[in-house]
Amino acid sequence: MMIKWESGVLIEHRGTRIILDPPSKNPRCRVAFITHAHADHSSAFRDNKISKFSSEETMSLVVVDGVKAREWQPLKVKEKVMMDDFEVTPHHSGHVLGSYEFEIATPEGTVLFTGDLNTRSSRTIKPADPIKCDVLVLESTFGSPSFVFPPDEIVAKGMIEWASRSLKEGKVPVFRADSLGNAQEVIRIFNEDTNIPVVSHWRVSKINRVYEAYGYRMKYFDIRSEEAYDLISRRNAIIVAPKRLESTYHPDFISALVSGWALRFKGTSFPLSDHADFPSLMEFVSECGPKIVLTCHGGGFSSILAKYVEKNLGIKAYPVNLIPTNFSLSSPFLKKS
Ligand SMILES: [Zn+2]
Ligand SMILES: [Zn+2]
Repeated sequence: MMIKWESGVLIEHRGTRIILDPPSKNPRCRVAFITHAHADHSSAFRDNKISKFSSEETMSLVVVDGVKAREWQPLKVKEKVMMDDFEVTPHHSGHVLGSYEFEIATPEGTVLFTGDLNTRSSRTIKPADPIKCDVLVLESTFGSPSFVFPPDEIVAKGMIEWASRSLKEGKVPVFRADSLGNAQEVIRIFNEDTNIPVVSHWRVSKINRVYEAYGYRMKYFDIRSEEAYDLISRRNAIIVAPKRLESTYHPDFISALVSGWALRFKGTSFPLSDHADFPSLMEFVSECGPKIVLTCHGGGFSSILAKYVEKNLGIKAYPVNLIPTNFSLSSPFLKKS
């Protein structure tokens, strides 16, 4: 089988082709598997012609952004889909609502494509399942040894302390987080561990409503409501807002970034992440036991992570976009084309 980067990760065997999380159109491939709803993974939903497979949750999250899901088929965890010689099985990837990793069984071995991955269990999502495979296509967002996240509970405590202190000083704490994933985690942290009311930016509320539709309980006031206005004027709420939103709109607002990138951010920030950190990525590789690791979605970190996988785990590894990989079970060690 051939695995290569061609506007997405393309897997090909005897004329059957599937593409995973394509960021742009690929005219050679008519079937796409989509791991989750974040925009850098789900743009195939904007291509009306390609057949799309994803979880129902992923589709619902994309639809609230105004996309019409055509040519789409739902996938359920551990339910196989056959496609000629390919058998595709989704598993939890632990990242955001409805996020999957895909196990692709072929006559020439099994590939696991992780999409974005988190191996810690969070307040909203079950952790990623390690799956035995021959080829592991691994995301590398935090694929460098300097990325080691503190325990989530310690981060949550820090967030609550900062918010309580700010409110006492008459400031309204604004947590800037990814609207899908981290925003809902922040809401659950304050719902479960405090009595502080939560006000949610309308872009976050839109996503909250999808979580609620799938049975996740969340207490918040939409920022456009009268209750929210009242709570903010009494300095009695935190605000959860999208990451990129400017926070200089009010002199009494004080903002903090919530993201794994907090480890490299100078301002007030909390390293709560929906990705695996470097040690967790390495552990995940060991648990999957692949013959080869192809790294992706990490920019420069893809090659750094590959280097460490080779050095520390003794498994052949390189970025998937470096060179096409012709993998066969009879001679797994790199018939490069
Ligand atoms: Zn993501
Ligand atoms: Zn991503």
